[in-house]
Amino acid sequence: MTEETRTVERSVEEWRELLSADQHAVLFKEATEPPGSSPLNQETRDGLFACAACFLPLFESSSKYESGTGWPSFFAPIAGRIGSRKDFKLILPRTEYHCARCGGHQGHVFKDGPAPTGERYCNNGVALRFVPDGDPLPEPRT
Ligand SMILES: [Zn+2]
Repeated sequence: MTEETRTVERSVEEWRELLSADQHAVLFKEATEPPGSSPLNQETRDGLFACAACFLPLFESSSKYESGTGWPSFFAPIAGRIGSRKDFKLILPRTEYHCARCGGHQGHVFKDGPAPTGERYCNNGVALRFVPDGDPLPEPRT
């Protein structure tokens, strides 16, 4: 999955109108929320975690686990829903990942996750919207 698969092409300014300041800073300025700040850390119900910008479901609750980091963590995304690239903001390269549909930044992936993947998708809670099983998914933003 690469940038070329993006199908939502709003400008950073257009997204500002649709999102809270915190959501916008994380999704489109690659800010990181403070650890422990997201109510989704405690979310244990079955459901889907969707991109807070365009509402594409990115993670299933069955891949969520408690990493102890203070950020919602997953061992795998839904196939094909994220893109990634290396960034060098912390000197050591990290792998950034984002929603494949709108390009909104979600978090970073590390190699210290649990089985079966060994990966840890460390996600900003503010960049996700949780949709419990049985609730309708929000209409996608295009
Ligand atoms: Zn998105």
